Amino acid sequence: MTPKRLYRAAAATLLACATLFPAPTLLAGNRFDTEEITVDPGPPRWRAPQQARTLVATMGTSTPSPNPYRLGAAGALIVDNQAYLIDAGEGALRAIAKTATAHDKALVDVFAPPKLTHLFLTHLHSDHTVGLPSLILNPWIFGRSAPLEVYGPVGTQRLVDGILAAYQPDIRERIDGPEGANDTGWRVNVHEFESGGVVFQDERLKVEAFAHEHGTLPAYGYRFTSADRVVVWAGDGKAGPAFQEAAKDAGLLVTEIGSEATVRNSPWGGMSAEERERVVWSYHLKPSNLARLASAAKVKTLVLIHESNYSAPYDPLAILEEFRRLYSGEVYSSRDADIY
Ligand SMILES: [Zn+2]
Ligand SMILES: [Zn+2]
Repeated sequence: MTPKRLYRAAAATLLACATLFPAPTLLAGNRFDTEEITVDPGPPRWRAPQQARTLVATMGTSTPSPNPYRLGAAGALIVDNQAYLIDAGEGALRAIAKTATAHDKALVDVFAPPKLTHLFLTHLHSDHTVGLPSLILNPWIFGRSAPLEVYGPVGTQRLVDGILAAYQPDIRERIDGPEGANDTGWRVNVHEFESGGVVFQDERLKVEAFAHEHGTLPAYGYRFTSADRVVVWAGDGKAGPAFQEAAKDAGLLVTEIGSEATVRNSPWGGMSAEERERVVWSYHLKPSNLARLASAAKVKTLVLIHESNYSAPYDPLAILEEFRRLYSGEVYSSRDADIY
């Protein structure tokens, strides 16, 4: 075939493809053209039990979806005014600032940058870790002198080493330049674990990790026990036996959830609806499985985060309503900066 004929044949094939798969089909995964990212779920709520010494903050409640009303994965346990951070998704530090300044600034001192010293990562998916450089470096700019203590699965050290290597020019300049920053607050002590069990304990809080089923990535949830509450922050994953055991008699269970009703509209996971369904459920938690797990574990209150909600037209409460048809206990759909 001559180059001219080859060109014509290629152009004809492209034209045929464009006719068979018009632009809207090819743009099905365009997250900037979905209703979901235009809907404000509303202001944060304070729902903590009265006199509670332990508070739970759902600071960033998004999935990887670039929703401007929901920051990336970020949470916190607050025990006697000390915050223990969970996950560092996109905008984690802004989620902290939002939580600190909501509720008549009740938590401004709790989240003061020098006090942001403990972080627990559930797993190393990017939607739970892209905010880590900011959590390591920015509180240091505002005066933190203690290193950040980071607890997470195997691979956490490598991630932190990479971040610190990438930011060496910034770090050196702040220390040696006119800013004269301290030489300790940018440092990170990583505590990796490769199986479930107690991963942290101090005078306020015991933290036990439990292994999740979440694709092939090591993933964990945490069971937090303080003087007055038992809180399970499940992270991402399906309803496996370790999750079932960890959820037993929890006062509060904070968990991701997907939608069985709308999973076929998922913008990721494959080209066909069947493929998307299969892929999504190899990572995420079905409402029917969560209902079974929470009932068997006798969980008192459920809080949904990281909701994979593909309803169309978009309804921010679609998953809550879907779940309530399966579960009669107390359950909330979270918003950023909610306190439970
Ligand atoms: Zn994940
Ligand atoms: Zn996630």
